[in-house]
Amino acid sequence: MSSREHEVVLIPGDGIGPEVTEAAVQVVEAAGVKIAWERVEAGADVFQKYGTPLPDPVLNAVRTAGSALKGPIGTPVGGGFKSANVLLRQSLDLYACVRPVRTIPGLPVPFAGVDLVIVRENTEGLYSGLEHRVAPGVVESLKVVTERASLRIARYAFELARREGRKRVSAVHKANIMKLSDGLFLECAQRVARDFPEIDYDEIIIDNCAMQLVTRPQQFQVLLLDNLYGDILSDLCAGLVGGLGVVPGSNVGADCAVFEAVHGSAPDIAGQGVANPIAVILSAAQLLRHLGEDDAARRIEAGVHATLAEPALRTADLGGSAGTADIARAIAERACP
Ligand code: ATP
Repeated sequence: MSSREHEVVLIPGDGIGPEVTEAAVQVVEAAGVKIAWERVEAGADVFQKYGTPLPDPVLNAVRTAGSALKGPIGTPVGGGFKSANVLLRQSLDLYACVRPVRTIPGLPVPFAGVDLVIVRENTEGLYSGLEHRVAPGVVESLKVVTERASLRIARYAFELARREGRKRVSAVHKANIMKLSDGLFLECAQRVARDFPEIDYDEIIIDNCAMQLVTRPQQFQVLLLDNLYGDILSDLCAGLVGGLGVVPGSNVGADCAVFEAVHGSAPDIAGQGVANPIAVILSAAQLLRHLGEDDAARRIEAGVHATLAEPALRTADLGGSAGTADIARAIAERACP
């Protein structure tokens, strides 16, 4: 355990965000890591006050600290403000969204032996926000794919594979239809693949990939995807291993990293104390690895596994009846040094 105190920004977010991020803070503290959390507000309430869900002081705080743990921030559908999640990733150039999807031992789930990592391009594609009305009844939404962003996300995926000893990277695409945009994404992945001869590279059309994932997910090791495909398949993959309550994530750039669960703000269960905090707790474990606190991260992950092995210690999304605070306490007890 390091005795150094780390400075990390905490963005509680909307809906279940405050409940699940506080649970993660409790577990990190129990694991013996000293963090000076700088709490900043972003999201729907902030939008009411400042006219933006993501004020500049929030961005500056993350830039200065270099890392953040973030709760989900809801995004209005159809109209309203632009997604704070997308704004944050674009403003801080957090170009790689990384989501490890693993079967948790002891948890009854549809598939055993899943161990893959989703590497999603986080800054462009159909999330560029370039939409306009051409004429009444006709709109255009622009998908932006650049060589620069495609090369760097491909390189991130291959470097992750090399670092983690993974033997295969699969680029997911629809280049049979979007020949230019997805074609460029694939061409960049092919160029990067040449620098990693020890890692197998293949390409799979997104619809086939979705089918393969729900029949034989164990075949995949690293999935390299553009922004939209990565968003959709992240939730699908979460479903393979127990749902949105157990899959962590991170958004990584050259200068800073923001750690957050795959799930959204779950307004349907907010404030009831029943949300599963494990996805955010596992995201906090990734944050600790990023800070060089590997030992504490390992203890937290082992604590999560030991907790989930007991059916009485599962939240409703996993078929149990435990509350958010029960789970946080159980993991905290098991993560102590
Ligand atoms: P948003 O607009 O923020 O994306 P959403 O409700 O559309 O919110 P999610 O928040 O991802 O999307 O929720 C999808 C479903 O999964 C909801 O029924 C929600 O209650 C459930 N869910 C998501 N996260 C959790 C969690 N941590 N614990 C329990 N259930 C969850």
